[in-house]
Amino acid sequence: MPTADFRSDTVTKPSPGMRKAMADAEVGDAVYDEDPTTKRLEAMAAELLGMEAALFFPSATQANLGGLMAHCGRGDEYIVGQRAHAYRDEGGGAAVLGSIQPQPLPSEPDGIIDLDAITAAIKPDDFHNPMTRLLALENTFNGQPLPADYLRDSTELARSHGLSTHLDGARLMNAAVATGTDAAAIAGRFDSVSLCLSKGLGAPVGALLAGSRTLVERARRIRKTLGGGMRQTGVLAAAGIYALEHHVARLAEDHERATRLAEIFREFPALGAGEARTNMVFMSPEGAGGEGEGLDKDAFTAFLTDRGITVGGYGRLRWVTHLDIDDEAIGRVRQACEEYFG
Ligand SMILES: *Cc1c(COP(=O)(O)O)cnc(C)c1O
Repeated sequence: MPTADFRSDTVTKPSPGMRKAMADAEVGDAVYDEDPTTKRLEAMAAELLGMEAALFFPSATQANLGGLMAHCGRGDEYIVGQRAHAYRDEGGGAAVLGSIQPQPLPSEPDGIIDLDAITAAIKPDDFHNPMTRLLALENTFNGQPLPADYLRDSTELARSHGLSTHLDGARLMNAAVATGTDAAAIAGRFDSVSLCLSKGLGAPVGALLAGSRTLVERARRIRKTLGGGMRQTGVLAAAGIYALEHHVARLAEDHERATRLAEIFREFPALGAGEARTNMVFMSPEGAGGEGEGLDKDAFTAFLTDRGITVGGYGRLRWVTHLDIDDEAIGRVRQACEEYFG
């Protein structure tokens, strides 16, 4: 029995069709900009995101850093959510490698940063202060799509103060599919957007950074500095093309399965599970948010592991649906919950 691995949508393995596309890929030296498959992926991504150009990166971490460094110089500052990936989960790359000072602000539960807080954090043009250069947002944030009004208002606010805007769109396609919005309509509000190919889209490696031609050329130089200039990347880009062609619309299935998971969990209030957010469900099994008398998280997860179900998360448990989670896996979770509480 294969394990039903709900820890993350990064655990997907390339499907036979994707592996065939990789094996058949035409390649060249991508640092010389001569890899036809990589160029095709970059053109597809630019079109999908409604941007002039896009650049292939080894990871979304590096694509975000490339974006931040393309916007900000040494000693500049970017405004970012306290719980944003590009602040908290990327090894402090902006500061360590970019000499860019983060100005973190509270991430509200729905993933937004309060507009008044943004305004208050923008430094005046005074030689004592760092130059506030960029607003960086994340969509989806912990699975939640940012509201369209907020995307408009926050980027307009940033622009009115002369700031650039970057979107960490690692899971942008989940947001687009869940809200029935064109990805370009979301991305178009920003000067640069990253997109991860190895989350729900199911490629083994890779990400894109999209923006204006000027920004992408600046990012190409930065990517080289960061060691992200890779050679025959066509074998990887082919997986990305396959993912964009076959794995975008089907994200709706992941969202639907997450909704079903949340419904199952609702029958067991001690789990303290919340609503599904695109392809994620969070639960606080020690009673926090639950109505029950609380539950031993370690015992519960060990019980699941014995039944071929793995789940991850720090503090809260996070369930993530993806390409390699099917209806059988959802059924297995229901049965495990029934046995545990039965
Ligand atoms: C996973 C993730 C990243 C980084 O992606 P990698 O390709 O794993 O480096 C960036 N931002 C968000 C929101 C993510 O979830």
